[in-house]
Amino acid sequence: MVQLNDNYLKLKAGYLFPEIARRVKAFCEANPDAAPHVIRCGIGDVTEPLPPASIAAMHKALDEMGARETFRGYGPEQGHEFLRHAIARHDYRDRGIEIADDEIFVSDGSKCDCGNILDILGHGNRLGITDPVYPVYVDTNVMAGHTGEADASGAYAGIHYLPCVAANGFVPEVPAEPLDVVYLCFPNNPTGATASRAQLAAWVEYALANKTLLLFDAAYEAYISDPETPHSIYEIPGARECAIEFRSFSKNGGFTGTRCAFTVVPKTLLAATASGERKPLHPLWNRRMSTKFNGVSYIVQRGAEALYTPEGQAQVRGLIDHYMGNAAILRAAAKDAGLPVFGGVNAPYIWVGTPSGLSSWELFDRMLTQARVVITPGSGFGAKGEGYFRISAFNSRANAEEVARRIRAL
Ligand SMILES: *Cc1c(COP(=O)(O)O)cnc(C)c1O
Repeated sequence: MVQLNDNYLKLKAGYLFPEIARRVKAFCEANPDAAPHVIRCGIGDVTEPLPPASIAAMHKALDEMGARETFRGYGPEQGHEFLRHAIARHDYRDRGIEIADDEIFVSDGSKCDCGNILDILGHGNRLGITDPVYPVYVDTNVMAGHTGEADASGAYAGIHYLPCVAANGFVPEVPAEPLDVVYLCFPNNPTGATASRAQLAAWVEYALANKTLLLFDAAYEAYISDPETPHSIYEIPGARECAIEFRSFSKNGGFTGTRCAFTVVPKTLLAATASGERKPLHPLWNRRMSTKFNGVSYIVQRGAEALYTPEGQAQVRGLIDHYMGNAAILRAAAKDAGLPVFGGVNAPYIWVGTPSGLSSWELFDRMLTQARVVITPGSGFGAKGEGYFRISAFNSRANAEEVARRIRAL
């Protein structure tokens, strides 16, 4: 008799976004006049069209695919050399960080990579995951059988939660006990917090001392405006020995629907075998990608490469300036409303404390029914997110301005 993966039954049935959709639908059905005026600031998806440099490169690549002389079939599973080189050069070597072209693995998304990385890790690792958190890190470990059941608060047995609260600036302190795998995401989704060089250095020091693997999600690095804040974990000496970095073109180039990302696995990064010998992870990830992946579309990789041209860079800057302009408008409105406001300076998310003891979902309902604005309740990202909500700056300027007006009018 075929058996299913029982671990999936432990998952808290993806309650956040379906529950938001359910409440929005119910409100719109009950209030058909208000429905057209509902503005969504909930889901973290970009709204602005692709940079023209990428569009031109993808048109050209598509024409190449239509001619016998320039047609391409399967590409390298690790990504085309032209893109691996552009990434390693512009994102790392030009910034003084030692990363080789063949340490870059091009993929169809950081979400996938964050989950797939578990293929090359053992099953007995002690896990450190922040609270609140991007739910992918938790759920993929549940699916892989690395946790027990969830308790009433949604916390899984077998995960060491690292609280991210106002008192620590939403950056977790290194724990007293040794952990084997720790997920860090900076700039952070959902809190919009960044980690300073000193804070990241403390994590690298901890990781080297405990032979911990840091899984560093830098999907929002392009949003950093503070010149002192590191864009990559590899800006910290020693990180090549303890960290894997995930990066994506989703939030800088607006590739959420186009799909292209990459993972950096330094050849100097080791992990222990069952017998305690230390071996490099790079050949395992290379093998994993060769066996289970056939690469990102040639056309899309040309589109991603174009983001590194001078025109592409200027257009990406324009997109980020647009979203961060929204963030400034939304931040100011939430401040004027007298709410505690975090994030929104080096990240496209604003993390706001709810007023006068309202729960995250109570605030969600009030924003929906009174302001007709959809936000994300902080409790959906973890127990420590209770009492907060997330406003996304991914929107048109007109929508951001209208949301700001409505927040002030509440
Ligand atoms: C959007 C996002 C990503 C990017 O995911 P893709 O699969 O590359 O689109 C990664 N991490 C976090 C925390 C995100 O919010």
